[in-house]
Amino acid sequence: MKPMTPAQLAFPAFEPGLPPALPEGLVLRRGFLDLPEQKSLWITLQEVLKAAPGVQTRTKGGGYTSAAMTNCGKVGWWSDAKGYRYTPTNPASGGPWPPFPNAFLEVVQRVMAESPWPGFAPDACLINHYVKGAKMGLHQDKDEADFSQPIVTVSLGDTADFLIGGAARGDKAVPFKVQSGDVLLMGGASRMRFHGIRKIYPGTSPVSDIGGRYSLTFRKAL
Ligand code: FE
Repeated sequence: MKPMTPAQLAFPAFEPGLPPALPEGLVLRRGFLDLPEQKSLWITLQEVLKAAPGVQTRTKGGGYTSAAMTNCGKVGWWSDAKGYRYTPTNPASGGPWPPFPNAFLEVVQRVMAESPWPGFAPDACLINHYVKGAKMGLHQDKDEADFSQPIVTVSLGDTADFLIGGAARGDKAVPFKVQSGDVLLMGGASRMRFHGIRKIYPGTSPVSDIGGRYSLTFRKAL
């Protein structure tokens, strides 16, 4: 992919009036889940978290992620001294990852039916929990087998600034807000863009008993 210039970042927004205009391949479904759906998904998510609690994992730099991570699905994304990879078992427990709850698959199928990737069939869901002060540095998702498959992220809880950059780490990154109930698709020309989480806005969750922000990131890893 060629480096993105600022002009290329000014593609038409999927949602008219959404600032800033998002580049091709990046689709934000603002408010895809209404409040009752968010509450219902939160109940399901808590079951997953009971089976596989989030942990802060080691990064390549030798530190720890500020977000607590866990997974569900056939495989889970993991990071430790051995590097970044998908694992069939939970390294924190030695057991398998919890399976996808039907409620997760239902959301993915519903959002993808109206997308350029209606056949998307995820096998991994990375769950990140961001509390006040947590962030995620700019990175690419590149541990998956097939980059023609998109990445689908559901946000629950506090609002966050999502950063979208270009094809190179040093390319200018532009923030936009992701809110509880939003679904973000990164595919096509935007699949390999650098991205991250700049900050969380504590106390902004419309679901009152969610502390912080959860992201559910669905991928076809294998
Ligand atoms: Fe990512």
